[in-house]
Amino acid sequence: MAKKAKAKKAAPKAKQVAKKKPAAKPAARRIVAARKPAAAKRATPKSPPPKAKAAARKRKWVYAFGDGKAEGAAAMRNLLGGKGANLAEMSNLGLPVPPGFTITTEVCTYYYDNKQTYPAGMDAEIDAALARVEKIVGAKFGDASNPLLVSVRSGARASMPGMMDTVLNLGLNDVTVQGLAKQSGDERFAYDSYRRFIQMYSDVVLGVGHENFEEILELHKEDKGVSLDTDLDAADWRQIVEEYKTKVKEKLGKPFPQAPRDQLKGAIAAVFGSWMNDRAKTYRAIHGIPADWGTAVNVQAMVFGNMGDTSATGVAFTRDPSTGDNSFYGEYLVNAQGEDVVAGIRTPQHITIAEKQKVGSRLPSMEESMGATYRELRRICDRLERHYRDMQDIEFTVQRGKLWMLQCRSGKRTAKAAIKIAVDMVKQKLISKAEAVTRIEPASLDQLLHPTPDPKAEKQVIAKGLAASPGAASGKVVFDAHDAETWAGRGEPVILVRVETSPEDIHGMHAAKGILTARGGTTSHAAVVARGMGRPCVSGAGALRIDYRGQVMTVGTHTVRQGDTITIDGSTGEVILGTVPTIEPELSGEFGTLMQWADQLRRMKVRTNAETPLDAGTARKFGAEGIGLCRTEHMFFEASRIAAVREMILAADKAGRERALAKILPMQRQDFVELFRIMAGLPVTIRFLDPPLHEFLPKTEADFDAVAKATGVDIATLKHRERQLEEANPMLGHRGCRLGITYPEIYAMQARAVFEAAAAVAKELKRSVVPEIMIPLVATRQELEMMKRVVDEAAKAVMAETGTKLSYLVGTMIELPRAALRAREIAEVGEFFSFGTNDLTQTTLGISRDDAASFLDDYVAKGILPADPFSSLDTAGVGELMQIAVERGRQARRDLKLGICGEHGGDPASIYFCEKIGLDYVSCSPYRVPIARLAAAQAAINKEKPASEA
Ligand code: ADP
Ligand code: MG
Ligand code: MG
Repeated sequence: MAKKAKAKKAAPKAKQVAKKKPAAKPAARRIVAARKPAAAKRATPKSPPPKAKAAARKRKWVYAFGDGKAEGAAAMRNLLGGKGANLAEMSNLGLPVPPGFTITTEVCTYYYDNKQTYPAGMDAEIDAALARVEKIVGAKFGDASNPLLVSVRSGARASMPGMMDTVLNLGLNDVTVQGLAKQSGDERFAYDSYRRFIQMYSDVVLGVGHENFEEILELHKEDKGVSLDTDLDAADWRQIVEEYKTKVKEKLGKPFPQAPRDQLKGAIAAVFGSWMNDRAKTYRAIHGIPADWGTAVNVQAMVFGNMGDTSATGVAFTRDPSTGDNSFYGEYLVNAQGEDVVAGIRTPQHITIAEKQKVGSRLPSMEESMGATYRELRRICDRLERHYRDMQDIEFTVQRGKLWMLQCRSGKRTAKAAIKIAVDMVKQKLISKAEAVTRIEPASLDQLLHPTPDPKAEKQVIAKGLAASPGAASGKVVFDAHDAETWAGRGEPVILVRVETSPEDIHGMHAAKGILTARGGTTSHAAVVARGMGRPCVSGAGALRIDYRGQVMTVGTHTVRQGDTITIDGSTGEVILGTVPTIEPELSGEFGTLMQWADQLRRMKVRTNAETPLDAGTARKFGAEGIGLCRTEHMFFEASRIAAVREMILAADKAGRERALAKILPMQRQDFVELFRIMAGLPVTIRFLDPPLHEFLPKTEADFDAVAKATGVDIATLKHRERQLEEANPMLGHRGCRLGITYPEIYAMQARAVFEAAAAVAKELKRSVVPEIMIPLVATRQELEMMKRVVDEAAKAVMAETGTKLSYLVGTMIELPRAALRAREIAEVGEFFSFGTNDLTQTTLGISRDDAASFLDDYVAKGILPADPFSSLDTAGVGELMQIAVERGRQARRDLKLGICGEHGGDPASIYFCEKIGLDYVSCSPYRVPIARLAAAQAAINKEKPASEA
């Protein structure tokens, strides 16, 4: 690099907008999350409407950066991609960034919309931008004596590590390589760069795989009797370059392109082309990135980390991406180019002395070997972190002692690290509590809500690698991404074991419960991708000897074959034989702090769906503020009770039923006593019996015998009754309040059990217990009225008997479209609504949840539904019914209590919707409670759910 970058003040606005994430409709991203219809659509390009063409001419396609200024800024991420926007921002900050330019994501969109052609005017803009780079660097693209070399780098809006291919050293040919040799005074370096370029360009642009070249290199080293690349001299590389070119000609039938302009054109097309390669598509599908976001292309002057021992290349994190500790962390390689670090080919050295000592490495750290450069790097990283107000992941190169910044971005991190960093940054006054709360992806908390290995458990540790992505996972060993996918498809938990991973393994990594590699640091592909996916990962377990052909790994005296079970602990780096007992997670430390802030910021309450004391206890521990759904039928299934339940169902008349119900009453009362105790005065919503009675009937001959014995009814009569109860379509059959209408004595018993329990616990706790009794599957006002009468009578009776005053609510589930529509008159009777969105989705869409799997995927893939409506609320249809019910219900009763208790109550996107329509609470399974607390806070802060930035 000839000229120094002039320091220049950043555009004043850049700072505030820097961290704003691009908004995208959650619906849009979900389409892609499930399948890739957009890609299919794009395959048939249509010519653009004339208006679009006219608009296209006015647009700017190329944005320059470097030399202390830039036409772009961090806020222009959608247009320039993440990499381009941040290169511009760093330039504006006056940091040493090699000059270059960014071809916008709009060109990518144009390219795919227009039969893979470019917009008019783009070429001229590229020419001008390239001339500017030449001027800054003081070299000319294609010049024989003083050639400018560039890298061509992709960069989408959301970072996609390893997905898109970068070409380095572009502009080299048989002539310019000599110029580079002379000008640098280092012939070896020039030819090393040239051979790298031929290999990368051939692989990425020309489709001649890298293995062709690796083979030539290996043979050459063998002939020469050396094992390291560094043992090869200029003459070796020159000869290898010749062999590389011959190989390309042999494969393609034409020579390797020599004209730098052609090279540039080809590389740009390859970047745009790679947006639609399978790797990129898979990554987008997993991370929910829409295909129409497109990628930008960055063309940037090369700086060289392979110019001898004062040159290097590396990556760094301003904080530890695994734990979140506020300690600078990074890896570098001397005399190497960037791709060597990311690819994990050579084991990198540590940047800081502290880290080096921590892992006991003998190789010198950058802090020792390049002290001054190290200190400058630290200064810049601190500045970037303060500027972006977030942990940064940066890439840099040192060329003969001079530091160059090649990339910065908000670093990927584990959920644990994300929380620690957010909480620490609030303490450092870098961000507000609300920002901290919005920075954590609610779904990612899942990583922290799972059991971890019990430290007291006995375990056989067979190897130790790096703690690359936390959490523990047990599964059967497979050595291939494809096997991982197949085995996981059969429902088997697998651990994917590889020497190292590459982008081709993404699908297998996704399918695996955990990932284990023998090679690579904590910034290797495996580690970065695993953290992004929330998969536990142990990387660089050097003691493993992996034999792909034999499908076996050995470590010391142990042999682990495909299918053997191991456990990996990504928090400690341990590789353990077999499975390990685990302990329950806790919301302590920073996690607890963040959740407190979320609680301060949210409006909606969070309850849980629980019927057992265990679940209720767990949910309380996770911060549930009551029970939103206690399904009483679950209490009927217990082995000790089912006989009495069956007796009740099979009774010939009311008197018989009441005799059986009298047996059930004390057990049911005891259930409620326990729940009321655990919830200690918090609201508890109890739903009365809901499923069709048929579900409780004996199934096997032995069952029938047992019931016959217990009830004295003969088997023939029992079987006859069983056939009577059978229904063609039980989901729409005799269930919910319809049972209460036919057999009011069942609901009367349940009401009595609730009130007796409430009276007892209220006395015991010396505080009021206010049960909320929920009548299921109501369609009409009359149903609810009749059931309410039954409940009220029981309440009156219990109050009289116990001499206690009881308050309670009677309400209903809204799970039928009719109920939503007639909400006004239903709310005249009911004091609360709880949206039973599982059934409401079934009844609104007319789709049975149990049978939908076979075609729902197809519906989502074809873009008919934006997502599986049973996991994420169909806000357009089911959501509109909910909105109607809210409105009409509140017309009748201003203080109508509103909640949701379907599966959706734990889904962040659905929670946003619940906030929008003004529900009072969401209720979800115990393990989702923290997720819901966080999502509810974010919904209160943001209103719209932002697209996740992968
Ligand atoms: P990725 O998105 O996969 O990280 P990059 O575009 O960042 O790909 O390129 C990978 C590596 O190539 C970078 O980390 C950097 O070390 C190296 N590189 C890219 N551009 C240049 C350049 N202009 N000069 C020197 N090295 C570069
Ligand atoms: Mg990079
Ligand atoms: Mg229901």
